[in-house]
Amino acid sequence: MASKPTLFFTWPSTLLPLFLFLFPLLIESRPIPQAPHQAFQFIKKLEGSQKGQTIIGLHHLKQYLEKFGYLPHHSNTETKRIYDDDSFDDLLESAIKSYQHNFHLNITGKIDAATAEQMMIPRCGVPDIVNGKSGKGRHLGSTQLHQVSHYAFFQNEPKWPPSKTQLTYGFYPGNLVFDIQTLRSICANAFSKWQAVTHFTFQEIEDVNNADLKIGFFSGDHGDGVPFDGRGGTLGHSFEPTVGWTHFDSDERWAMNPPSPEFFDIESVAVHEFGHLLGLAHSSDPNAIMFPSLRGGQRKGSQKCETIKGLHQLKQYLEKFGYLPHQHSNTYTQTKGIEDDDSFDDLLESAIKLYQQNFNLNITGKIDAATAEQMMIPRCGVPDVVNGKSVMGPYLLGSTHLHPISNDSFFPDASTWSPDLNNYLTYGFSSRLKTSLDYEKIESIFASAFAR
Ligand SMILES: [Zn+2]
Ligand SMILES: [Zn+2]
Repeated sequence: MASKPTLFFTWPSTLLPLFLFLFPLLIESRPIPQAPHQAFQFIKKLEGSQKGQTIIGLHHLKQYLEKFGYLPHHSNTETKRIYDDDSFDDLLESAIKSYQHNFHLNITGKIDAATAEQMMIPRCGVPDIVNGKSGKGRHLGSTQLHQVSHYAFFQNEPKWPPSKTQLTYGFYPGNLVFDIQTLRSICANAFSKWQAVTHFTFQEIEDVNNADLKIGFFSGDHGDGVPFDGRGGTLGHSFEPTVGWTHFDSDERWAMNPPSPEFFDIESVAVHEFGHLLGLAHSSDPNAIMFPSLRGGQRKGSQKCETIKGLHQLKQYLEKFGYLPHQHSNTYTQTKGIEDDDSFDDLLESAIKLYQQNFNLNITGKIDAATAEQMMIPRCGVPDVVNGKSVMGPYLLGSTHLHPISNDSFFPDASTWSPDLNNYLTYGFSSRLKTSLDYEKIESIFASAFAR
């Protein structure tokens, strides 16, 4: 869990094994949970509140916003003290505004009906904002980056070591809502979805203490500093690499294929939580599996293993830069076509391999972390591949200097200037040029670029 792990990382490393050993014991001795309640229901009473008011219960909202990263994080006792008053101040208003921004609500700074409704939906316990930066919003503001905004990483990008591609997982005994066979099949299924689109493989082992990923059902205060909250509210939480814990709140009414809105779909939450185990942060796309909220009865990530919502945007990205055949005069105005479906097919795999080859990445054919990271970097809009042939020479990469022309590459079948031009090319500026630079400045920039 992104804002809390300092708790673990700052401990002397010699204490950590001891803590891990004690952890199951702490769980055994936890207090008996209170009667289940709807943890976020208190927000209903705050609907309509705004800056300047003092309303009983507002301090609960401050603690909620602190928990999910919208107000500065303090230790548990400090939080109680600092966020203990019921006044609607400037800080609360700006926290609500950034919550509204992340959830695509009208930015009113008030607890209006839509905001209260969104806040009451049960959700993952992992904060949306870490160290003041939103994992969710990090990729907004650029159309290039937006293409792969379904995949965002935690701010400091905690990762498994590159050599660690085979991850083992195990289950804590006890507190199981499902029998172990059912739980095994749910988790195997959830991991298979990530295996299809990353370079990781997952294997269950018997001994949970030796597993990379440790999965269990817990209730209330369960010893990791982040207590669960009874029925509703927080459904589960996970700790980023390389802690590797996923905890589900055992006070929830879990189900496979939930029969009614009182039940939560365990597999949807499992796929989401396992995304955190791989280092993924929350997405602000309500359709993405990494969106933090899940309504009762709702199922997500239930498509075929190889289908992930948003893959069609990846296909559009790869088409734009030449890795997939050009389908339409304007992809974005067409609604039917190869790029509009979310299936991870052979064509997409080979396009990704070609991309990986061009960018000197491991050729996995999957959207592994390094590939996603490379794709999110802003770039030139000229395609890398024309008519199926790569136009990226190896020397174009990794250098800020231009190389002698023999090392650069030409477009295939190409496109050269007529020989009788005598190597003499003229240039000029379009009168429609819109820029903040003045004309003389532009002239000098381009003259210097042509000189190189
Ligand atoms: Zn989450
Ligand atoms: Zn926990």
